Amino acid sequence: MSLENIIQKTSEWITGEYSWKLLCPICGLDYVHITALKCLRSTDETTITNKGIFVKQAQNDMRGVKITLQYRCENGHVGEITLQFHEGCVFLSHTVSPETKGLQDIWRD
Ligand SMILES: [Zn+2]
Repeated sequence: MSLENIIQKTSEWITGEYSWKLLCPICGLDYVHITALKCLRSTDETTITNKGIFVKQAQNDMRGVKITLQYRCENGHVGEITLQFHEGCVFLSHTVSPETKGLQDIWRD
């Protein structure tokens, strides 16, 4: 699996507003949970988890902004999909995370 295949057309939402579904970049499973959202702008990193919203200082040697979506699929894979805005373009990358314990959905009713 690669980033070329991380979305799938779906008709599960009746309104059609959300017609694409995120797949696990590792195994392709469509049961993917969002466990954290990070935004790095300059050296300010904002992280949202189920525990709250946190801002800290972080290393950053890139211009632009980096938005990272941390996920956990129901097969146990954990990783981060990152969008890096740089010189007018948005670049995507994926890293596999060894951290698998204690990750909870950001929010779930
Ligand atoms: Zn997976």
